[in-house]
Amino acid sequence: MDINKLSFNPSLCFINGKWIQPHRGKFIELTNPSSGKILCKISRGSSEDIDHAVKAAQNSDWVHSTALERGRVLLKMSQMVLNEVELLAELEANDVGKPLTQARGDAIALARYLEFYGGASDKIHGETIPYLKGYTVYTLREPHGVTGHIVPWNYPMQIIGRSIGAALAMGNTTVLKPAEEACLSALAFADIASRAGLPEGALNVVPGLGSEAGASLACHPGINHISFTGSEVVGKKIQAAAAKNVVPVTLELGGKSPQIVFEDADLEAALPFLVNSGIQNAGQTCSAASRILIQKSVFNKVKDMMGEKYRALRVGPAIDDLDLGPLISKRQKEIVLNFLELGKGLKIVAKGSISRNAPETGFYIQPTLFEDVPYDHKLAQEEIFGPVQVLIPFDTEDQAIHIANSTSFGLVASIWTNNGARQMRMAKELKCGQVFINNYGAGGGVELPFGGVGRSGHGREKGFEALYGFSTLKTIAAFHG
Ligand code: NAP
Ligand code: MG
Repeated sequence: MDINKLSFNPSLCFINGKWIQPHRGKFIELTNPSSGKILCKISRGSSEDIDHAVKAAQNSDWVHSTALERGRVLLKMSQMVLNEVELLAELEANDVGKPLTQARGDAIALARYLEFYGGASDKIHGETIPYLKGYTVYTLREPHGVTGHIVPWNYPMQIIGRSIGAALAMGNTTVLKPAEEACLSALAFADIASRAGLPEGALNVVPGLGSEAGASLACHPGINHISFTGSEVVGKKIQAAAAKNVVPVTLELGGKSPQIVFEDADLEAALPFLVNSGIQNAGQTCSAASRILIQKSVFNKVKDMMGEKYRALRVGPAIDDLDLGPLISKRQKEIVLNFLELGKGLKIVAKGSISRNAPETGFYIQPTLFEDVPYDHKLAQEEIFGPVQVLIPFDTEDQAIHIANSTSFGLVASIWTNNGARQMRMAKELKCGQVFINNYGAGGGVELPFGGVGRSGHGREKGFEALYGFSTLKTIAAFHG
């Protein structure tokens, strides 16, 4: 793809509806993970750019728009994203290393978020509350004001859709700091928003380093809400920064999510979910099912079924559109290789293979399935963020619950069983934000509230919950006698 033929210049910031040079004139080189080669340069935004963006957001006309007007603009953006899915997918494949089909799925999900929140913007309202004689009491849902959005590199379009889409629908204005390793789809999104007629200042995008642009955004006194998706380490810094300004924060952090397979499950139906949930986006997914808990009586059977699938997995350049692309960076590859080192001594069921087409300079790794891993082993406790899954045997339902809840994360979980009572019991016992019964992910529905407990974070995005999160409630009590 020819980056020079884009309808915007990717080396600029998007502030107040205009493409501008970063204030300090510094840039960062973006790498294509499939080749390890430089793709283009992007702005290395600084505190001055963040300050400019926050002021633009404070003065945007978007705050005067009606809910109907907001909905219409978001719906127009959604349609334009759909019209440009192929371009967005190609851009993401080059920038993030995502196989084209998966990148296309992310672009379609972005459109769907804009459609959902565009449709919802004039359907969310307060209520009236019966109260003392002579009073009328009602509540108003109001925007926070300027919301800051710091997103990671693994699903840029989906995360932009769910957080910027919901924030704009409620009438907030936004400043977005994409991950330095994955900025292109965020900039393309700004270009689409601008062409769709989103008023100046409603969306500002400042690419840059986390420690510079990101940190400046998190602690800017003009920000009224922060939505952060990323690692726990950075999440804690964001929460501390938000605390200084006493602003609310949504933290979507990591996970170590389990799928729990009982002997009565439909194993054929479970199989694709068991494998895909671990290798999608090369395992760089917060809700990856990196632990597969299997009842002992069917352990060998499930292990063999998964092993066969693993041996057929192919890894290669994003544009070749195989099962897995490369990891995002050399650094991420080293992190995953270090985890694999920790697995030395454990038995490996199977690995996938790297295609001959994959350049040596790309950041490829073989998907790896470990067998019979003790549940308290580091591989079964820590988020790896690569295509690595561990199989853990269990005997009883109580044991399964104990193992599932044994990490300090709590994002999602799934239960595979046809026993209805067990489904209900386990759904209550599992400590996490989403439970799936006889599926995993439910197709990722934008309608379904999503978020974690424990080290996976707090607050909810997606669905109507996100609209509550991106608004504040005012109670009005009128005495009229
Ligand atoms: P990360 O290192 O925490 O980075 C996330 C974002 O924070 C990036 O934009 C990063 O910018 C920025 N950042 C880094 N340091 C910062 C600082 N001091 N102040 C403000 N911002 C800062 O996470 P990642 O490695 O990109 O993403 C992987 C993590 O995200 C995993 O733990 C994964 O589970 C989690 N995740 C969670 C969800 C969810 O919904 N729960 C979804 C996706 C990913 P730079 O990249 O430019 O440094
Ligand atoms: Mg990149």
